Amino acid sequence: MKKETLMIGGIPATEIAAEFGTPVYVYDGSRIVQQYHRLKNAFPGVKVSLHYALKALNNVNVLKLLKREGAGLDAVSLQEVLLGLRAGFEPSQIMYTPNCVDFEEIQEAIKLGVHINIDNISILEQFGHQYHGSVPCCIRLNPHIMAGGNSNISVGHIDSKFGISIYQLRHVLRVVQNHGIRVNGLHMHTGSDILDAEVFLRGAELLFEAAVEFPDLEFMDFGSGFKVAYKDGDIVTDIEDTGARISKAFKEFCASYGRELELWFEPGKFLVSESGFLLVKANVIKQTTSTVFIGVDSGQNHLIRPMFYDAYHHIVNTSNPSGTPRLYSVVGYICETDTLGYDRKIAEVREGDILAIYNAGAYGFTMSNNYNARYRPAEVLVLDGKAHLIRRRETFEDLIRNEIEIL
Ligand SMILES: *Cc1c(COP(=O)(O)O)cnc(C)c1O
Repeated sequence: MKKETLMIGGIPATEIAAEFGTPVYVYDGSRIVQQYHRLKNAFPGVKVSLHYALKALNNVNVLKLLKREGAGLDAVSLQEVLLGLRAGFEPSQIMYTPNCVDFEEIQEAIKLGVHINIDNISILEQFGHQYHGSVPCCIRLNPHIMAGGNSNISVGHIDSKFGISIYQLRHVLRVVQNHGIRVNGLHMHTGSDILDAEVFLRGAELLFEAAVEFPDLEFMDFGSGFKVAYKDGDIVTDIEDTGARISKAFKEFCASYGRELELWFEPGKFLVSESGFLLVKANVIKQTTSTVFIGVDSGQNHLIRPMFYDAYHHIVNTSNPSGTPRLYSVVGYICETDTLGYDRKIAEVREGDILAIYNAGAYGFTMSNNYNARYRPAEVLVLDGKAHLIRRRETFEDLIRNEIEIL
């Protein structure tokens, strides 16, 4: 049976690899736009605003693409704020949600005019002392909702470093009232994996209860946690069902609060994960006593999620899609055990074939590094049937740029 080769935005992956070389990150722009509108349209009858969490993928072209569609940004560092401003976002479209940063960084962000999200009572006191009511802020509350199973990506539970515990609300209110702080939003981000609307709604109810204490609210920000499929059979967030239920609860809340507020979300993964592929070349096939390894021209330096989170990323052979499937372990070229895929059935791989690693749009390039003195890959964006180079592959100059030779 003849199988079609992988197409990305209408272009064969093999052609993109031939034109730009490997390893290369390739993003399908139309997929990003489609996901944005799917999420945006899932909340009937409420004023919903999506702030893209750019830590997932921050190339300026991806930011501009989402800006064109109407998105705002969620930035977790001052540098991400600067990237957003450089891409043309207005400060008012950017939410700055830092964790454990120096108060000075928050002061810098305030000078830039972006929304400030505070997740620590000590910072809230410093903020109140300095600005009183002159600058509004949002408060990040931790509702202690468990989301997902991997503790590295569950940020709402009791031991999490993120947010101010909902049990500390009395203390928050004392600080707010004593300094005359104007709180314009309440925020929660329960973690990177939610299973269904229940988690959101449980967290939301707690935020709605807290909201009665804050008369100046303009928005409620429910973070992210929208799940996408990494493999067949994965449970994904039912966006339409979740959206309808949250919208209903939110409308009821606004009615009792007495004013129509905006509903904000901060999707990262949902918008960009499935748009991206990491194309790599099979350098060598290596047979050991128990395993057939495919050694590729990439590794944990380019895609760390399989090793860091034990994440599954689907892998296919784009050069020989009709080949007989064989059992392989796909490993990188880094001097670590950097297994990208264990016991995978992949259409027979020959040395030189191009493999595509799926779901590489989110937390792929942005988590890449130069370990083993390897260059970070190039990035390509496919738009309207055309592949554009949007980041050059690094060169030796990039590796040594900041090094100071003293001997
Ligand atoms: C990482 C992060 C997000 C995005 O999470 P995804 O799982 O990629 O959607 C949103 N908000 C905050 C505060 C984050 O830290």
